[in-house]
Amino acid sequence: STAASLEVPIKPPVKVEYTQLFINGQFVDAASGKTFQTLDPRTAEVIAHVAEGDAEDINRAVAAARKAFDEGPWPKLTAYERQRILLRFADLVEEHNDEIAALETWDNGKPYEQAAKIEVPMFVRLMRYYAGWADKIHGMTVPADGPYHVQTLHEPIGVAGQIIPWNFPLLMYAWKVGPALACGNTVVLKTAEQTPLSALYVTKLFHEAGLPSGVLNIVSGFGPTAGAALCSHMDVDKLAFTGSTETGKIILELAARSNLKPVTLELGGKSPFIVCEDADVDNAVELAHFALFFNQGQCCCAGSRTYVHERVYDEFVEKAKARALKRSVGDPFRQGMEQGPQVDSEQFEKVLRYIRSGVDSGATLETGGDRFGEKGYYIKPTVFSNVQDDMLIAKDEIFGPVQSILQYKDLDEVIRRANNSRYGLAAGVFTQSLETANTLMRALRVGTVWINCFDTFDAAIPFGGYKMSGIGREKGEYSLKNYLQVKAVVTPLKNP
Ligand code: ADP
Repeated sequence: STAASLEVPIKPPVKVEYTQLFINGQFVDAASGKTFQTLDPRTAEVIAHVAEGDAEDINRAVAAARKAFDEGPWPKLTAYERQRILLRFADLVEEHNDEIAALETWDNGKPYEQAAKIEVPMFVRLMRYYAGWADKIHGMTVPADGPYHVQTLHEPIGVAGQIIPWNFPLLMYAWKVGPALACGNTVVLKTAEQTPLSALYVTKLFHEAGLPSGVLNIVSGFGPTAGAALCSHMDVDKLAFTGSTETGKIILELAARSNLKPVTLELGGKSPFIVCEDADVDNAVELAHFALFFNQGQCCCAGSRTYVHERVYDEFVEKAKARALKRSVGDPFRQGMEQGPQVDSEQFEKVLRYIRSGVDSGATLETGGDRFGEKGYYIKPTVFSNVQDDMLIAKDEIFGPVQSILQYKDLDEVIRRANNSRYGLAAGVFTQSLETANTLMRALRVGTVWINCFDTFDAAIPFGGYKMSGIGREKGEYSLKNYLQVKAVVTPLKNP
């Protein structure tokens, strides 16, 4: 049905159905009555006025989640019952694939085809993956030196506070809510102020699938108000956050100052993409292009330092420029578009500032460098060559369609330079040599190494950062640890 619907002109949904907060199984206004605007990044026009949650709404949401955890029903359901609700939810999302994808594109600006063919199906896949875990969470029996029977119970932590960014609103929801609920926790989720809509829509479906009231609460609103209140709350037992490294530090501090709740962080990156001297240049150009430009360059793991061996450098630069010039930019609802607008004016201005800084610091602007069109937040695919490691564009996370190409001579040098970053999220390696691949995969201090591929995000593959790119892993079996705690139970073999 998705493929068929792409053959007709695609239109954004005519109206937004859900704009209130979702607390204790109901849509409600913010306690303050306040709302904020969410804008269409294609035009900067208002899509909807959305209830603006604040500390008081966070209190209400946490109280509902607390009750749903302490008094049931969620942790008291059998694992099989929880699994069935997650599976029914996945089915409902799948049935509404195109509407949900349209909402995501409208609010975020990403190409509709990407949302409809990759992201919503991946959301469904992730939910089914986590549903699969719900009834496979086991403790252990442990050999002890004394005459004791020792076992561990793996128990949910309690109320999880989760804060997500705007670049993949639905996928971040799935990465957070999926494991938390599969393990029996309850949740208060604060969405990003730029993209509040899709989470409200799918949460309504979740309740149609049988999710009990209070188990999952959605508070739209801003970071320093709603977000900070969630982080500081004494009744929140665990936090998970995806966003910038600066905000990650604030969140860790708020957690420590309140009740020492454990925190999972998935933060910024400046991922190297290393093109080795044996690389097939055409294929390397295509993959490096995808690694950087995917999702308007708004990926924490974007391959934003393209290191190219000197032997293939000139050819690579020329072809990377040609590829960027060919990238189709335009209304993300139009068929065949590879790139839509950046999410909002703040990001748009920030990316343009970094482009100016690249020019000022002496990098060679090969193509792009400016806005695309007259309205909305579109930016031309931009390529810099002759980039040096100490330039801002080679050090900071730009989060936009700006490729920086750097030249290197040998493997030891590129390993040193690739690792010389406060970040350690991911890396790409492009080579035909098994030996080079083996050397790099061990030497790079990052949470993911993609060899001859990039942005492969299966549900079972763990994702997370070394260094200042984060704490903990999401997806895969590793993610369950974030939402379980271990209770040791010791009993003597014989009654005393
Ligand atoms: P970006 O700069 O890309 O918007 P942020 O890290 O600021 O990235 O935002 C990611 C998420 O963190 C958003 O949901 C945002 O509202 C939230 N956030 C921002 N500041 C704070 C804060 N001080 N406390 C809690 N959450 C915050």
